[in-house]
Amino acid sequence: MRIVDFHLHLPLSMAGGDVHRALHLLLGEMDDAGVDVAVAIAIEASPEVVRRNVTPEKLRNAIQPLLYDWRALGHPSLYNAMVRPREALEDHLRLVERHLARSEDVARAAAASGGRVLAVASYCRLNSVEEYIERLERIASMGPLIGVKIYPTFHFLRPDDPSLEPLYDYMESRGLILIVHTGCDPGIWELPALCTKASPRYLEPVARRHRDLMIVAAHMGSYSYLFPGIYFADAIRLARGNDNVYLDTSATTLHQVRIALNKLGPEKLLYGSDYPYFEGLHMKDIVEAYLAFRVPESVKERILHLNAEEILSRIGVKLALPRG
Ligand SMILES: [Zn+2]
Repeated sequence: MRIVDFHLHLPLSMAGGDVHRALHLLLGEMDDAGVDVAVAIAIEASPEVVRRNVTPEKLRNAIQPLLYDWRALGHPSLYNAMVRPREALEDHLRLVERHLARSEDVARAAAASGGRVLAVASYCRLNSVEEYIERLERIASMGPLIGVKIYPTFHFLRPDDPSLEPLYDYMESRGLILIVHTGCDPGIWELPALCTKASPRYLEPVARRHRDLMIVAAHMGSYSYLFPGIYFADAIRLARGNDNVYLDTSATTLHQVRIALNKLGPEKLLYGSDYPYFEGLHMKDIVEAYLAFRVPESVKERILHLNAEEILSRIGVKLALPRG
């Protein structure tokens, strides 16, 4: 079966920051897993934006409601945030910096991948929206760019923020897909006070205003260590009510995928692995779990490649895929 992975990242930190080495690692993993094409998503988060939005005091207040939650206490970065918020914040900024993947680097890797990798840029709050659109033009000239991802957690921005309207107009006219991180994020973004902006419900007005903008709610609103499935119901509601909205299955369980299938049917789901962010697993392990998933073959085909191929062909991307 052909496989398109609609959500993974360039393993830059594993490759010591070397773009070509990271691409080599990624392609090796894709070959082992039998993945034909992958969508590599950039990650940009600025320590400056984080500092502007989270003070040690704010962190302490955000953690207050979880003081008696044993799972929160058992979570090293949340425990640290409780007892020494200032150091925890600095630790967290270092962790964020380690996992950055600049949009330009991802586009360059995609350009060198022989059609196996497509690039998604990361929104960046350090640029004004106008500057960011100019930057996107340059990124698109470097490699096969198919979309832009917004991280409402790291970016401290709701996706329906009016300042983003010019970006959405531009993306709609250029056929760029909007991918939005939904759910929590590791570390301090597990705290409900810091992840509410990443609820899929804030995509509703965007999906309605921009009918030609293709939108993917990553992780089906579910990603969370403390509260798995935190915004799952919102994601289902959003995808059900809007033809232009899809959900990606990265960092979710097959149990959740089955519920989504029951509620939405197979047309709205896109397979994603979130490589390299799955602890102790290889891409192959995740693909094998999907291949062994007890649903009809026609449903697997939809999730693993047909939906992705249709979306990409709608925005004019031609894939060099084997038959079958
Ligand atoms: Zn991801």
